Amino acid sequence: MLFAEDEDALKSAPAAVASGPRSLALLGDESIAEQKIVAGREEPCRANAWAGIMDLGLLRSKVLACSDCSLRSGANNVVFGDGDPRAQVMLIGEAPGQSEDESGNPFVGRAGKLLDGLLSEARLRREDVFICNIAKCRTPRNRLSEPAEVSACLPHLRAQMRIISPRIVVALGALSSQTLVDPSIRVTRDRGKWFEEDGVHYLVTFHPAAVLRDERRKRGLVESDMKNLRAMLDRLCDKKR
Ligand code: SF4
Repeated sequence: MLFAEDEDALKSAPAAVASGPRSLALLGDESIAEQKIVAGREEPCRANAWAGIMDLGLLRSKVLACSDCSLRSGANNVVFGDGDPRAQVMLIGEAPGQSEDESGNPFVGRAGKLLDGLLSEARLRREDVFICNIAKCRTPRNRLSEPAEVSACLPHLRAQMRIISPRIVVALGALSSQTLVDPSIRVTRDRGKWFEEDGVHYLVTFHPAAVLRDERRKRGLVESDMKNLRAMLDRLCDKKR
């Protein structure tokens, strides 16, 4: 599977941003990385077929029955996602790998273990967050999802985000960052940065599988992103009080 370092080869994120993100002023906390706002992004996918669904269990049953793109025929399972349906934090990866496809659960195996460890840097447990992927079915030979596959699957993710209504979304890897934040994102350049749209704060960071391939260089960076996540979460909670 291609990950962040392969992002120049990434063609999957719908080219939907007319102009790049414009900077917002820092919100008075130097420990929080640069804030930007997502500007001019258009919804890249077809109309959301799940607009009326407000229950995550019902959405899950609909998505598990999906065969809207050709990926379903090669996958063992539709991997819907897992975690707290009222989570304040969603972590969104790219597509299921082999272990996820076999188990039907997101982020299992080595990458999942690593993610659990990274979450502990933010003083979070897996059951505190909601974890899922841009595409819900495994791609053949773990190739990148095609633009048509991303567009076909995006309504599922949009519906998950609408129902869960997180305050923070952590975009794991290039496909997730470029689809959710801005197609011009380069994870190696932009990781650790925050973006904001409609009150949701997006943090760009490496995909755990990319960290596994280069732990020496990337692990410390993602750990620092997770500490940054904790700081933002605390800050948003303080504001709410
Ligand atoms: S990848 Fe998404 S759109 Fe395609 S069949 Fe699976 S659930 Fe449906």
